Amino acid sequence: MSDDSSGIAGQVALVTGGTRGIGLAIARRLAAAGATVVVCGRNAPEALPDGLTFAACDVRDPESVRAVVDAVAERHGRLDILVNNAGGSPGADAATASPRFSERVIALNLLAPLNMAQAAYRHMQARGGAIVNIASVSAVRPSPGTAAYAAAKAGLLALTRSLAHEWGPAVRLNAIVVGYIETEATEATYGDAAAQAAIACNIGAGRLGRASEVAEAALFLASPAASYVTGAALEVHGGGERPPFLDILKELSA
Ligand code: NDP
Repeated sequence: MSDDSSGIAGQVALVTGGTRGIGLAIARRLAAAGATVVVCGRNAPEALPDGLTFAACDVRDPESVRAVVDAVAERHGRLDILVNNAGGSPGADAATASPRFSERVIALNLLAPLNMAQAAYRHMQARGGAIVNIASVSAVRPSPGTAAYAAAKAGLLALTRSLAHEWGPAVRLNAIVVGYIETEATEATYGDAAAQAAIACNIGAGRLGRASEVAEAALFLASPAASYVTGAALEVHGGGERPPFLDILKELSA
C-alpha cells in the first residue's frame, strides 16, 4: 500500500545501485510513497520487492548511462527523481595505488553521478525534477586508506552546489553526507559485532545508522517538502564522531 503524503505519488524515479544496501532502502521508500521506481546496477538481483523494476547499467559507462536514463523516461513518459547512490571503494594505499585504480574509483563516485545527472537533466529541464547525490562523511573528514574515494565524494558535494545553480530553479540537487550505515556489507566495512559496538560508542547517536534512515532523508530531499532546499548537503551521520583528542587529554590528566 502506498503512502502518498510526501507528494511524489505518480512520479518516476531512477535509483542507481538500488539493488541492495542503502540504494535498495531508498528505492523501497520512494516506491512506498507512490513513485514508480527503476533501480539499476551491473548485476540483476535474484529478487526485488514488489513495485521495483531493474535495468542493467554500469554507471561508469557514459553510453550505458544515457541509454538507461532515456529508456526509463521513454517507458514511463517522464523522469522526476534521480538518486545517484551507486558508489564505494576498496581500501588502497595512496602511495602505491595504480592510476587505473584511482581512475575507476573517481569514475564510479564522481563522473558517474555527473553523467547520470546530465542525462536526467535533459528530461527534467522542462517539467522540473530532483536529484539526490549520496555522498559520505569521507568527503568532509580525513579518510586515510580511501583518499581517492574521499576526494570523489568531496567533488560530488561541490558538483551538487554548482549544478543547483546551473540547473535551478527547474531542477533541485542535494547531497546526503552519509555516516556509518548497517547494510548486508557491514561486517566487511566495520568489522564484527564487537568492533561495531566500539565504533558506535564514539558516534553521537550511540549506534550505526540504518539504511531506512538515509532513505527518509532521500525521500525528503526528493519531495516537494524540500522545495526551498537545493545545493545543500544534509548530514545523516548520527552526529558524527567524538574527536579522539578529548579522550587523549582525559587519559593524560587521569
Ligand atoms: P553496496 O556496496 O551495498 O551496494 C552498491 C550498489 O551499487 C549495488 O546495487 C551495486 O550493484 C551498485 N553498483 C556498484 N558499482 C556499480 C556500477 N559500476 N554501476 C552500477 N551499479 C553499481 O553499497 P552501500 O549501500 O554500502 O553504499 C551506497 C552508497 O552510500 C555509496 O555511494 C557509498 O559510497 C555510500 N556510503 C555508504 C556508507 C555505508 O556505511 N554503507 C557510508 C557512507 C557512504 P552491482 O554490484 O550489481 O553493480
